[in-house]
Amino acid sequence: MTDTPPGGFDVTRLLRPDLQAMPGYVAIEPIDELARRLAIAPEQVVKLDGNENPYGPSPKALEALAACRHYHIYPDPLQREARAALGAYLGVGAEHIILGTGSDEVMDMILRAFVRPGDGVINCPPTFGMYPFLTRVVGGRVLDVPRRDDFSLDLPAIKAAAQQAKVIFIASPNNPSGNVLSRRELDALLALELAVVIDEAYVEFAGESVVGLVPSRENLFVLRTFSKWAGLAGLRVGYGILPAAVTDTLMKIKQPYNLNVAAQVAMLASLADADLLGERVRALLAERESLFAALAAVPYLTPRPSQANFILCRVKGGDAGPVWRRLRERGVMVRYYPDSPLLKDCIRISVGLPEHTEALFGALKEIGGTLGN
Ligand SMILES: *Cc1c(COP(=O)(O)O)cnc(C)c1O
Repeated sequence: MTDTPPGGFDVTRLLRPDLQAMPGYVAIEPIDELARRLAIAPEQVVKLDGNENPYGPSPKALEALAACRHYHIYPDPLQREARAALGAYLGVGAEHIILGTGSDEVMDMILRAFVRPGDGVINCPPTFGMYPFLTRVVGGRVLDVPRRDDFSLDLPAIKAAAQQAKVIFIASPNNPSGNVLSRRELDALLALELAVVIDEAYVEFAGESVVGLVPSRENLFVLRTFSKWAGLAGLRVGYGILPAAVTDTLMKIKQPYNLNVAAQVAMLASLADADLLGERVRALLAERESLFAALAAVPYLTPRPSQANFILCRVKGGDAGPVWRRLRERGVMVRYYPDSPLLKDCIRISVGLPEHTEALFGALKEIGGTLGN
């Protein structure tokens, strides 16, 4: 622990004790780190751990970024052009839309607007780790209602927890299991007195969105992002489609210039290039099917069907650590969950390009014989 400094005053005593006790968010490892450790070029790393889009941004987005001459001017705090463009794209009024530095920031805005210290937020693990993390940062109480074995929701337990909660987060498709929320489950959630946040980060890979329902519901909040389908994860652009009165409050409390000029330029150009980005999504869906079939043929893996751009695989034998480690030694990064009791025997593999699938299977074949050592 820290020594008391000469002045006798230790400023860390003023920090919130709950934050000091809180675990940090376990983020993915940068490519450069692994490349340096393995002494290979960063381009040789096969990155299948972050569900990023291997095609990158649309060429139109890159051109627009190069052509923009306004990087020295603050962006519009009211996000007028971006909200109007998204409204037209989604068929929803701009008064329902707010953009953030990734959809992660919209989650944070919602929590800051609704949750006071001690208020409950329902989390349904295994799911996206940002929900409990951001809840703890605002001092909220995480109410875990684990999913069933098939990763569907435990609705009776959610209903019971709702008595003490203000917000529930549900990813659909869920990360990391890849399954979607059914309409019956959605209706059951919307009947509760909760802000129901449906995180559609992967909806472009799944098909049906519930965005169209927002204007006619009191308590439906939808989150979307440009990180996955549009290849803009590094630029940080996400958005929420929310009841108009909630959007007004979030607009009031957000950082005024949160949507930066580059992010806005790239998202507008991406919307204008949605056809090309849609073709890439279809190519990833085709690759997902090849990847699934090939994983199903590996004797020590059991892949789970997915409606997103990743596949969760159970590793026979109970611990996925050895497979994760041996893939990593071969420059193949996948996601592993050593801290999650529900996922200790699982790895999550992002859908990449055909050559990434090939490299993954080269490595899986090599390590097949070494497992159990
Ligand atoms: C990747 C992901 C996001 C996207 O977050 P951004 O901040 O928009 O990059 C949101 N939710 C889930 C479940 C995700 O997996």
